Amino acid sequence: MLLRHSAIRKRVRDVAREISRDFSGERVHLIGVLKGACVFLADLIREIDLETSIDFMAVASYGKGKESSGQVRLNKDLDSSIQGLNVVLVEDILDTGLTLSYLCRILMERKPKTLKIATLLDKPSRRVNDVKADYVGFTIPNEFVVGYGLDFGERYRNLKDVCVLTVPADKSD
Ligand code: 5GP
Repeated sequence: MLLRHSAIRKRVRDVAREISRDFSGERVHLIGVLKGACVFLADLIREIDLETSIDFMAVASYGKGKESSGQVRLNKDLDSSIQGLNVVLVEDILDTGLTLSYLCRILMERKPKTLKIATLLDKPSRRVNDVKADYVGFTIPNEFVVGYGLDFGERYRNLKDVCVLTVPADKSD
């Protein structure tokens, strides 16, 4: 186990407080990156003390395994325009940065008032693209993690804690 639920809850509250302070008196539009960010977003939004709205995007980058394909595909676009809005893009984990740099590029073209990134987890050691999150829950080492929305082949999203996934070595060869 890497991060206990109680520690996550406390940190999510702190991040929400930072967002509430930075956008004091304004509305924030949270965009969740499906599916991994849904648990983080659900907890985060309930701790934000501002007018909020939500939308979602879905991207595919990892497939069923642990290694990224290196390509990002947009599977679901936003329901509504973000022009003039304070957008906070909510992601579960920032790894190579390919997903977020792709999403930031297409979102900036839509002229939001501001665009910030909130990620629960950051694995800076794996970065390929130069992306920096404005709000980071936890910086973690280069391990494959599951739980609190993060999956391995669609499993484990329901774990309350964030855990390191260790796969037994393949003994077939
Ligand atoms: P990036 O494009 O930054 O390499 O990867 C972002 C996406 O890769 C995340 O949204 C997540 O879906 C997936 N990912 C990266 N690292 C992990 C990990 O440790 N565990 C899980 N479950 N997914 C990961």
